[in-house]
Amino acid sequence: MVGHAWDTVVVGGGIAGLVAARDLAAAGRDVLLLEASPQVGGKLRTAEVAGLSVDVGAEAMLARRPEGVALAQELGAAVVHPTGAASAVWSRGALRDLPRSVMGVPLDLDQLARSGVLSPEGLARASTESDSAVDGDVSVGDLVAARLGDELVDRLVEPLLGGVYAGHARRLSAAAAVPQLLAMARRGRLLDQAAALPAATGPVFAGLPGGMGRLPALVRDAGGFEVRTSATVRALGRTPGGWALTVGPTTRAETVRARSVVLATPAAATSRLLADVAPAAAAELAGVEAASVAVVTLAFRAADVPDALFERSGFLVPPVEQRAIKASTFSFAKWGWVRDLDPDIVLLRTSLGRHGEEVTLQASDEGLVRASLADLAALAGITARPVDTHVQRWGGALPQYVVGHAERVARIRAALADQPGLAVCGATYDGVGVPAVIGSARRAVASLTQAE
Ligand SMILES: Cc1cc2nc3c(=O)[nH]c(=O)nc-3n(C[C@H](O)[C@H](O)[C@H](O)COP(=O)(O)OP(=O)(O)OC[C@H]3O[C@@H](n4cnc5c(N)ncnc54)[C@H](O)[C@@H]3O)c2cc1C
Repeated sequence: MVGHAWDTVVVGGGIAGLVAARDLAAAGRDVLLLEASPQVGGKLRTAEVAGLSVDVGAEAMLARRPEGVALAQELGAAVVHPTGAASAVWSRGALRDLPRSVMGVPLDLDQLARSGVLSPEGLARASTESDSAVDGDVSVGDLVAARLGDELVDRLVEPLLGGVYAGHARRLSAAAAVPQLLAMARRGRLLDQAAALPAATGPVFAGLPGGMGRLPALVRDAGGFEVRTSATVRALGRTPGGWALTVGPTTRAETVRARSVVLATPAAATSRLLADVAPAAAAELAGVEAASVAVVTLAFRAADVPDALFERSGFLVPPVEQRAIKASTFSFAKWGWVRDLDPDIVLLRTSLGRHGEEVTLQASDEGLVRASLADLAALAGITARPVDTHVQRWGGALPQYVVGHAERVARIRAALADQPGLAVCGATYDGVGVPAVIGSARRAVASLTQAE
């Protein structure tokens, strides 16, 4: 069946696709957004735990980049900031204050020493920076290890990068993941430049009361474009006037036509959709690996949780510690709005799963809860039984920005340059954080609207 021809079809209803659809509609386009799952939002999602609605995907956004906060404000949402409770890292047998750093490179060596995160030998090594030239792209881990030693990488860089990318410091690209660090390394000594950085002003992170998971519905409800959920796009082909998309189950497949298309899907899905029309781009996209993760949310009775925990926003766990969880966020201590949901209930979450360690996730939901509780007892002294739990699995969720990623993205864009009316956006390209993903959607929209 061939229906109405749309001006633009956006494939994928994560935050990238929603923002692209909204902006294209605002530019006067007739837009349809097709989302495979029953709801829009992708990795922004809330769920009920102990009857309270909290984020089970992304729970914060950088406030230092404007796109996320500005979008929320345009949509009339209040923006909130974390309480200021300090983060910690589990290292060498204790929870220790997380020293201030640029992705592990300390801003203040005395503070690093006081934290006890490193052994005396590791601290001595991190305090004397070795000379090492940096040519081209290099992994964040190799860059920092060459200058400041392996222990700093294992105990600080790894957990910090693991929290954002669920990846490994010695594989993730400095150019794509932490360009500031690469630029500093090219200029000279990291320690001197980190120590000279101006004191941070204003909050680093922001969120929405009720959760980041509210943002997708706000974009959708702002209107201007049509949304179809439970609509998986299976194939994309060229037509004389634009594009034909095959949508829905193979037994009841439908053709949707459009003058232009935005693919706001993860790399693997984008690769499949481009297989016929842009095989070179499809092959590059197929090479982007992704990490699977799980978020376990636990609700405890407030009276059962040690008071001291209210002072921390959570903690990271370096892989060298060989625990099941890689982090825990004490949502009740980090966000005022979570604490206010119900003063008798304490909500926190753990995250599990790093790239290449999918075996951690090959457990039942109960198994992931058990592993989380065992680590919370051992590391944070939480021995109570939860009153409710929720397990959210995110398969292939975080694209790995490995060494050479920026060049790969440039090759993908070059391979699509001769495809008028086709644009890509999302977490694969310009950063995985919410503001960066919004930025990539804006770039896709600009490429379509400026081409006219
Ligand atoms: C557990 C977790 C925690 C995170 N925490 C943070 C955080 O605190 N702060 C932060 O800034 N970032 C965080 N991130 C990263 C951030 O959430 C994501 O990078 C971002 O939301 C990705 O948006 P997206 O639109 O590119 O992709 P997605 O959210 O993945 O959306 C893609 C959409 O495309 C749909 N789709 C796929 N294939 C098809 C198809 N064939 N047809 C139709 N639809 C299709 C999918 O169903 C999905 O809805 C986190 C990520 C995870 C997994």
